[in-house]
Amino acid sequence: MYEKEREEMVERLVKWGYLTKPEIIAAFKKVQRHEFTPANVRGYAHVDQPLPIGYGQTISAPSMIAIMLESLELGPKQKVLEIGTGSGYNAALIAEIVGGEGKVFTIERVAELAEFGRDNLQRTGYGRVNVILGDGTCGYEAEAPYDRILVTACAPELPKPLVEQLKVGGKLGAPVGQHYMFQTWTVAEKRSENEISVRECGGCSFVPLVGKYGWK
Ligand code: SAM
Repeated sequence: MYEKEREEMVERLVKWGYLTKPEIIAAFKKVQRHEFTPANVRGYAHVDQPLPIGYGQTISAPSMIAIMLESLELGPKQKVLEIGTGSGYNAALIAEIVGGEGKVFTIERVAELAEFGRDNLQRTGYGRVNVILGDGTCGYEAEAPYDRILVTACAPELPKPLVEQLKVGGKLGAPVGQHYMFQTWTVAEKRSENEISVRECGGCSFVPLVGKYGWK
């Protein structure tokens, strides 16, 4: 179901230049986006726009997800922490890219969405993704350090615990800015225990990251 729509979505993202890396293209082809979208918006699953998933939250537009995943240089065997499980779609893509020897942890603060994401992941064969209910601005110390940390809600600044829980050489991607506007997709690389380099990769619009090291 929806195979043609998914194929055409990927073709557009490649043509527009959002998708370039073969392993990320393969993941977009394989993960069934319509399985992660609520029934009332499923018909729009392959349109390039964010869609509502309830509780005032969204599943990001495919092009925005492509920007996030490409900018973080995800690859096989990595240990990845995602903040903001939502529908679980992004976590499924990450699980495809890191493969069976990689590990994916994803944290969601809204209990109903953690359950929605977990159910979607299990039903589609990504039960190996660990869904954790909690405040992702504090990271997940139990499994730190991570090769990659990806934040899918907008923070006022890079949350300190997330920088601390990165491996040296690891990368953290997050939208940084105001509520719904003046946001920049930001990628930080941990050069040493005490040094990070920060690259701003263009404008974006995300829901707020709410928590101890986010918006109150
Ligand atoms: N990655 C998701 C997907 O693939 O559907 C989309 C995420 S949506 C744009 C952002 C999510 O971040 C929402 O589900 C929201 O509840 C969650 N969120 C906001 N603040 C959070 C926090 N401090 N910890 C964990 N999740 C948070």
